[in-house]
Amino acid sequence: MGKCKDITRLLSDALDRSLSTGEWVAIRLHLPTCSGCRNYRKQIRLLRVAAQVASGAASVDGAASRDE
Ligand SMILES: [Zn+2]
Repeated sequence: MGKCKDITRLLSDALDRSLSTGEWVAIRLHLPTCSGCRNYRKQIRLLRVAAQVASGAASVDGAASRDE
């Protein structure tokens, strides 16, 4: 473990399933040493939020939709 290919795979998997303790440890050991994987994590988190907003799961501005 510890290669970028493995870590990005785990970061992606973490959106869909629970990671094992060992998998989280591998991520936590790797991220501080690798800006590439940190950026990857940031990107997939943004994508995740955007997808939730688009699907209506996060309708934060629903109250502002009345016409006046
Ligand atoms: Zn990496």
